[in-house]
Amino acid sequence: MQKVAVMGRRRKKVVRIPKKRLPKFFSCPKCGKETVRAEIFREESRAVAGCSSCGFQEEFQVKPAQGEVDVYCMLTDRVYSPSKKASITNTKNA
Ligand SMILES: [Zn+2]
Repeated sequence: MQKVAVMGRRRKKVVRIPKKRLPKFFSCPKCGKETVRAEIFREESRAVAGCSSCGFQEEFQVKPAQGEVDVYCMLTDRVYSPSKKASITNTKNA
């Protein structure tokens, strides 16, 4: 009978995941400058994206999986198709 005991050589492998660098500022769909910042308030599941150049600001509801980029996408969506409320049933859920 053979017993293979692998012991004592527990090597902790530290896997370092390089943080993906997100651009802090997005370009503004209104004025074109890269001065749009998205801020997410996880506790309230909402986000605010605003341009510090022209003052354009919008508020959104976010899901936990969504990030700044998604907020920015929603912002551009809102600008480019303001009246098109595609398949969003109830945006105002506050
Ligand atoms: Zn702007």
